[in-house]
Amino acid sequence: MTSMTSMTSSRHLTELPLLRPGDPGYDDELAGFQTGFAQRPDLVVPARGTADVAAAVRYAAERRLPVGIKATGHGLPGPVDGGVLVSTRHMDRVSVDPEARTARVQAGVRWGQVVAAAEPYGLAPLNGSAPSVGAVSYTLGGGLGVLAREFGYAADHVRSLDIVTADGRARHVTPGSDLYWALLGGGHAFGVVTEMEIGLVPVRTLYGGSLAFDGRDVDPAVVLRAYEEWTRTVPDGLTSSFAAVPYPDIPALPPHVRGRYVVSVRVAHTGPDGDRIVAPLRRVGAVLSDSLREMPYAESHTIHSDPDFPHAYYGDSAVLGEWDLDAVAGVLGRTGPEAAGAMCVVQVNHLGGALARPAPNSVPYREGTFLVRMLTMADRERAREILDPAFELLAPVTLGRAVNFAFGAGDRGAGLYDATTRERLAGIKSRYDPANLFRRNYGVSG
Ligand SMILES: Cc1cc2nc3c(=O)[nH]c(=O)nc-3n(C[C@H](O)[C@H](O)[C@H](O)COP(=O)(O)OP(=O)(O)OC[C@H]3O[C@@H](n4cnc5c(N)ncnc54)[C@H](O)[C@@H]3O)c2cc1C
Repeated sequence: MTSMTSMTSSRHLTELPLLRPGDPGYDDELAGFQTGFAQRPDLVVPARGTADVAAAVRYAAERRLPVGIKATGHGLPGPVDGGVLVSTRHMDRVSVDPEARTARVQAGVRWGQVVAAAEPYGLAPLNGSAPSVGAVSYTLGGGLGVLAREFGYAADHVRSLDIVTADGRARHVTPGSDLYWALLGGGHAFGVVTEMEIGLVPVRTLYGGSLAFDGRDVDPAVVLRAYEEWTRTVPDGLTSSFAAVPYPDIPALPPHVRGRYVVSVRVAHTGPDGDRIVAPLRRVGAVLSDSLREMPYAESHTIHSDPDFPHAYYGDSAVLGEWDLDAVAGVLGRTGPEAAGAMCVVQVNHLGGALARPAPNSVPYREGTFLVRMLTMADRERAREILDPAFELLAPVTLGRAVNFAFGAGDRGAGLYDATTRERLAGIKSRYDPANLFRRNYGVSG
């Protein structure tokens, strides 16, 4: 149930260290992973706890100012001008209860911290590919993790959430309430989540890594076809994805990928027989690199080796209802290094397994079979020119978009939820945030 904790404090905003444009520290607070959007709020509140967040939200509500939230800056929806920005990066405590197999995670915590805190107990969270991503926002958007097909979405493992809603009140939210259902899936639009309690899974090691081909030697469409056919044969709990990445020829990159169009399959499997299961993939063509191995879970970030330096990117995704090889191969044709004229990354995640299980939250499109993600480092206008026609190819088999992979290239709200989910989210939104204070996020408010 949703309960209102007694007001944590009647702290006023004037008691907080507030930052305005030009103040020392203002730019530091705004710096983040995504550098493609200019952020220039009138007021930044570097929150240290719930009382600070509540004071910031009350201040904004009294003046009807929009409230933005930033933890790490990986998923900023777009540029910001004016209003109030709550920066949560100082709220970075994580604690593990090994007996209960749970972790309490504050709003500014990154996944790498949770993995490190859980690892000594032989436990793991349902984190994603990059350790630098914020745990809370990732989970509010569903959270498609390294072990997704075995355990489902990260949102499916949340025990409770603490949130400051648009009325400035701190609420403890548990399963059974409308707000619990809405936050886990549609979560960026209802308030500032200050902390969450999540379930951990007993995973110490896994078989995984990446098997890469040179896309100029082996036709990417051939790897794609082999990948999809292979997914039909794998155990239900095995998680995998396909990626096509044209790496620039820059010294910062490892020599084996530098300047190459790398087409790879990434695998994570906690069951037996890893080598036997991936054997058909190893026969697809001349292998460029092969990092498939038994590894401690703490090394799971090496499976995808996402970039860890700030940069500009725009992108979107399509959840497919059914597989269409010609359409997805067509996407590769349009976004490949020669065709696009700009760096475009295409990823195809195998869905199903535990992701298809119903859960008491608003994560949509559980019937999806594959998720196609595209992003580009081209500027925003060029990004639309490249990506829109590519997504058009997928339109006949597309169910919708995934909120976690909407990176500023498309409309804010369209297609993120099916009609029934959207209607229920809108009803809950109108009760908890009637003035639409939290309108700077992806989600139900469009
Ligand atoms: C390199 C990279 C790898 C990724 N890998 C995965 C992956 O494997 N699986 C996956 O599912 N997603 C993945 N994502 C997407 C990621 O989960 C989302 O972009 C997520 O929103 C990032 O959260 P953040 O806190 O890091 O970023 P931020 O930009 O700080 O936050 C993003 C948005 O979330 C909202 N928000 C932030 N904190 C709160 C809060 N406390 N309460 C309410 N709303 C809040 C705000 O609207 C904010 O604009 C990846 C993204 C990148 C860039």
